[in-house]
Amino acid sequence: MLQAQLVCVECGAVARGGARGWRAVLADDEEDPPPEIVAYCPECAEREFDRRAD
Ligand SMILES: [Zn+2]
Repeated sequence: MLQAQLVCVECGAVARGGARGWRAVLADDEEDPPPEIVAYCPECAEREFDRRAD
């Protein structure tokens, strides 16, 4: 792991016990390099990445 601790970039939750369900994504901001890895807790990951069409 690159980070000793995962903190959700959305809600600030801290991962514990293996960070199951968490997602780490590369935030590639073209205007502010270099890219950095940000983490999402399971709840925020679902909201961010698994949106369902209404
Ligand atoms: Zn979160």
